[in-house]
Amino acid sequence: MGIDKAVVHAVDGVNLDVMRGETLGLVGESGCGKSTLARLLLRLERPTSGSITLEGMDIWNAPGEFLRSYPKNIQMVFQDPFSSLNPRRNIGATIGEPLKIHGMPAAERKERVLELLSWVGLRPEQVTRYPHEFSGGQRQRVAIARALALNPDCVVCDEPVSALDVSIQAQVVNLLGELQNKLGLTYVFISHDLAVVGHISDRVVVMYLGKLMELANSEDLFREPLHPYTKALMGAIPKPDPQGERIQLHVQGDPPSPINPPGGCPFHPRCPEAMPACSTQPPQWKEVRPEHFTACHLY
Ligand code: SF4
Repeated sequence: MGIDKAVVHAVDGVNLDVMRGETLGLVGESGCGKSTLARLLLRLERPTSGSITLEGMDIWNAPGEFLRSYPKNIQMVFQDPFSSLNPRRNIGATIGEPLKIHGMPAAERKERVLELLSWVGLRPEQVTRYPHEFSGGQRQRVAIARALALNPDCVVCDEPVSALDVSIQAQVVNLLGELQNKLGLTYVFISHDLAVVGHISDRVVVMYLGKLMELANSEDLFREPLHPYTKALMGAIPKPDPQGERIQLHVQGDPPSPINPPGGCPFHPRCPEAMPACSTQPPQWKEVRPEHFTACHLY
């Protein structure tokens, strides 16, 4: 008996540039391919076709020296700081680990760890504490300090505040913004939470079943969403409220399985504006307004 292996195109035909110093937000429901895109960027997965380039260099076919420095240049902050930190290591050892691997002498390392702690708003005496002695927000600060240890150019933040209380989310998002200004960082910020993405991102990409639905700068996207999927997501956003109420994506029904995505436009089974062509012809990716792209037969 044979087992058929389904080939899931988790991210298909994605063509995206991330500009130095910007925050590019990736938003969509779970299973839309945004985390796969992050894994591809980090070289944790190899694309089956196409390429990912950094400063014009293909990250899978670059010279050895480039590849050796690549992990230093791109770091990641994960959703759940508790599971991404070693519970048996104090935070000084955790933050200093990448520095140790890269051969930084102990005295210099100690100094650097204290500097990183101050950058993320933690006190020097907390360096010997263990992850369980910190709150969720503080643990995420530790994870950010570790990600910054090697002076990366780009940090991929995969749902970095989703596991935190709403009141703490804003603090961590603000900290990321401050660090970006201070260090000139580039962020790829992944979230299902449109409010968070809109708050921190310069440009926002909306993804659905591994395809790009819309890309625009944050202001334009929120002022005039074009794609029916983006509009549906926006329609679920309550009026901005001073309490900072959490805003979640909500679209009717569940997304179809990425193993067997619908033909034509992948959103057509859920789209209130679907036309006959939508179920058979994939829409082209077009620039509908300056720097505002979408893939939809309505345009
Ligand atoms: Fe809706 Fe058709 Fe546009 Fe897809 S292409 S979003 S189904 S109108």
